[in-house]
Amino acid sequence: MGSRDEFRERTKRAVALRAGYLCSFEDCGRLTAGPSEESTESVTLIGKAAHISAAAPGRGSRRYRSEMTTAQRKHIDNAIWLCSDHADLIDRDEVKYTIEALQEMKRLHEAAQAIAVQTRTNSNWGRGSWQSARTRCAWRSREHRLHAMDSSFAPLCPR
Ligand SMILES: [Zn+2]
Repeated sequence: MGSRDEFRERTKRAVALRAGYLCSFEDCGRLTAGPSEESTESVTLIGKAAHISAAAPGRGSRRYRSEMTTAQRKHIDNAIWLCSDHADLIDRDEVKYTIEALQEMKRLHEAAQAIAVQTRTNSNWGRGSWQSARTRCAWRSREHRLHAMDSSFAPLCPR
């Protein structure tokens, strides 16, 4: 039985913070962290750093690539921050949720978070319409995806 290439704690924390503790799944944006009433320092966490390419081969693993090294599987580039529902969902369907599709969701979410931090807007406020427009725009064509990589991204996507 092989070992799973799990992420380090610091990797999980970094991918969560880069996502603003919001689910990165297209049109989700669910807040995944908050206070727990168990104690004044307890945290309720309903998100996880999901593997884009599976941590281990075998039954139930998705998007596993044998040619990847352990270091690549544990790297933050192989992690996407998701709510627990979407973390489960992507591991039910690797035909729909390909490595490329998940990498694109992560990139778009992080780009939106970067804009939100820069412009002091709460990216989760009115998320549904805002993110839908953004995602439609970004997915419509390759040109839009390329535009999404620079700071002119926001004006390209009508609210
Ligand atoms: Zn979600």
